[in-house]
Amino acid sequence: MKRIYADNAATTPVSETAIREMVRCMREVYGNPSSLYEIGQQAKEELEKARAQIAACFGAQPREIIFTSGGSEADNQALRSAAALGARKGKKHIISTAFEHHAVLHTLRALQREGFEVTLLDVHENGIVTAEEVAAALRPDTCLVSVMFANNEIGTIQPVEEIGAVCRRAGVLFHTDAVQAAGHLAIDVGRMNIDLMAVSAHKFHGPKGVGILYARRGVALTPLIEGGAQERGKRAGTENVPAAAGMAAALRETCEKREETAAHLTALRDRLIEGLSRIPYAQLNGDRERRLPGNVSFCFEGIEGESLLLLLDDRGICASSGSACTSGSLDPSHVLLAIGRPHEVAHGSLRLTLGAEWDGDDVETVIREVSGVVAYLRGMSPFWRDLTTGKRPHVFEK
Ligand SMILES: *Cc1c(COP(=O)(O)O)cnc(C)c1O
Repeated sequence: MKRIYADNAATTPVSETAIREMVRCMREVYGNPSSLYEIGQQAKEELEKARAQIAACFGAQPREIIFTSGGSEADNQALRSAAALGARKGKKHIISTAFEHHAVLHTLRALQREGFEVTLLDVHENGIVTAEEVAAALRPDTCLVSVMFANNEIGTIQPVEEIGAVCRRAGVLFHTDAVQAAGHLAIDVGRMNIDLMAVSAHKFHGPKGVGILYARRGVALTPLIEGGAQERGKRAGTENVPAAAGMAAALRETCEKREETAAHLTALRDRLIEGLSRIPYAQLNGDRERRLPGNVSFCFEGIEGESLLLLLDDRGICASSGSACTSGSLDPSHVLLAIGRPHEVAHGSLRLTLGAEWDGDDVETVIREVSGVVAYLRGMSPFWRDLTTGKRPHVFEK
């Protein structure tokens, strides 16, 4: 049976280019970048080459990039650094949104316990917050705005450039979790007035456990990990040179093919959305147009998401109900609740995130299998019977 991998928002297959780079570094460049002899300095050169390549993809300077263990660490450090800078000036108010990744939401919760005040903006049904809403929430004591570039569950793209402009005018730091966007959407930190940005390699065909934090020159970072003076004192620990080189290679390749991939995925995505919209009492989550090229997210009435995933897995389709981080928990996704989906509908969610290797046949297979599994599960569901007999009202139009 052919497997269809439809969970590229959870992680992506590692590209051959990245694997080659990593193996080369592990074999040939094993020195410690802090060592002064030649094999140490070769490792240092590899690291700096990777840093320069990554910086170039985002219009940043190499010195504005530090390597981290991934997106979660970068988000944690960005928020904690901005909070520390704010606290020094007596500014302890932070603005973010209700549908951020848990790496942001849980750090904000910790900062609240430490005396910061957090405003979480509501998200509209289309899954987009506006720059006007951010502007309206600003206060004299606001030190940070954190709004994700693109949402990991429903794929909606936020007006980052407009939000950046609002923050810059107000003199407030702007952080964006760009983990879903990096490599897939054009990002220019200067034009977009981004002060802090989190990126993770494994979402663009790089290895897991490595990412970067971009911090605009002049924005002082607070280290989360104390120790040696690596990464200019902002992130201790011997640098993972093979991972950094693999990430840089993957990012370069993804960025080079970005427009071509986006056009291919957008066409397939739209066919998939059209096909799944024919299922009765189903609705697309998030804006129809302003979404990541490969993201399709649906809610189905009368369906329990976990059973849907298991049956799709039996049919060779790897999908997800929301984010990988919340699967295994019985709570419905905070993202779907944030866009106003009622609990019982949020439980019946399905996220399909496409990869460049997909073709039209894959789309047809997924439409056929999802339609079949949804009908099968509804046929066995007492909850669905209540909907069809009118004992319970429908949430969606047919
Ligand atoms: C995957 C993801 C993260 C976490 O990145 P890791 O490298 O897995 O720690 C953070 N934010 C978003 C939006 C993500 O999709």
